[in-house]
Amino acid sequence: MNILSVNAGSSSLKFQMYEMPAEQVLISGVFERIGMEGSFYTIKLNGEKVEKKVELKDHKKAFELLVKELMDNKIVDTLDDIAGIGHRIVQGGSYFDKSVIASEDVIAKIDELSKLAPLHNPAAIVGIRAAEAVIPGAVQTVVFDTAFHQTMPEENYLYALPYEWSQDYQIRRYGAHGTSHKYISQKMNEILDRSDTKLITCHIGNGASISAVLNGKCINTSMGLTPNAGLIMGTRCGDIDATIVPYMMEVLGLSAKEMDTVLNKQSGLLGISGVSSDSRDIEAGIKEGNRRCLLAQKMYVRRIVDYIAKYYVELGGCDAIVFTAGVGENSIPVRRQVVEALDVLGVKLDEEKNNIRGSIQKISTSDSSIKVYVIPTDEELMIARDTYELINS
Ligand code: AMP
Repeated sequence: MNILSVNAGSSSLKFQMYEMPAEQVLISGVFERIGMEGSFYTIKLNGEKVEKKVELKDHKKAFELLVKELMDNKIVDTLDDIAGIGHRIVQGGSYFDKSVIASEDVIAKIDELSKLAPLHNPAAIVGIRAAEAVIPGAVQTVVFDTAFHQTMPEENYLYALPYEWSQDYQIRRYGAHGTSHKYISQKMNEILDRSDTKLITCHIGNGASISAVLNGKCINTSMGLTPNAGLIMGTRCGDIDATIVPYMMEVLGLSAKEMDTVLNKQSGLLGISGVSSDSRDIEAGIKEGNRRCLLAQKMYVRRIVDYIAKYYVELGGCDAIVFTAGVGENSIPVRRQVVEALDVLGVKLDEEKNNIRGSIQKISTSDSSIKVYVIPTDEELMIARDTYELINS
């Protein structure tokens, strides 16, 4: 059975097609600059990457071209060979604690939640509508980035703001990267061959979050109402004293929108270093003796360590810490510094094993009090799995 995993942004459409249940990737790619000048798409097939410049008026056109590629490359013969399409949805609010079929009622709820994810939820609906129009026979499902975090207890998801705000305006912690945290915690449990585990899952990419996962269920996570909470990220500040916001708006005469841009686009590694949001550039800057790059990395690592320590206490111990995403899978120095700072808990790094990028590896020593792993994430596969399960249920 062929299942398509889709991630629609306002001007992009990423896709990956799987043969299920074998979980084999048949083709993948991305359409970019949809509705803009200079649009193009890239297709990855049999290890080869091809880029094609085309006019992409809208997402429907992108789906039409995708179907044509699937047929031209003999991945499907007819549209009926596409059994399901799973869409990534950033914000599912308190409505969704699991993936569901994209009924009209479900789409209306995703639309209602657009106020909490104005850049993402409307784009996802455009993606669903376009897929429906081009591939009407496929079962459409929606997979939420927030769903895995819905098991958090109230005391962890509420903010100490007027209680009515949570009731009247849905102001609470929802978290994000849930599909990734779920994937790596399931994979970790598989490796440990147990399900009664205490895991700390660290999704450290350009956006970054850490979750505390008890017996396969999330009990706390570092992102909040929006992704700008918790860790220091590429361009996001993460946790700060909230009163800085009105104070600096007054000092600089910034509008709410301008302040939002500073907090989300001009802060984090970029804001501190003044060099880049990319940890590779920060590492290069450190090698050249750039003091602010060094400072940015120290602060970045400190915050990760703080969250691991907090969740260690909350979980009442920890069986494994898992690193994933761009930085977690690839940055040898960030992993080293985080694990070294956990020395007080008896966590020990195997330097040689840490010398890897992008593959599953245990990086702690055999006498480490907590196992530390690198596990590459695979959110697209999770979307395909959930879609396959929903079709077969
Ligand atoms: P993601 O959001 O998961 O795609 O992660 C993207 C981020 O991963 C980039 O902005 C980099 O900071 C980081 N990254 C990717 N490759 C490397 C690498 N080889 N070494 C260090 N950081 C990396």
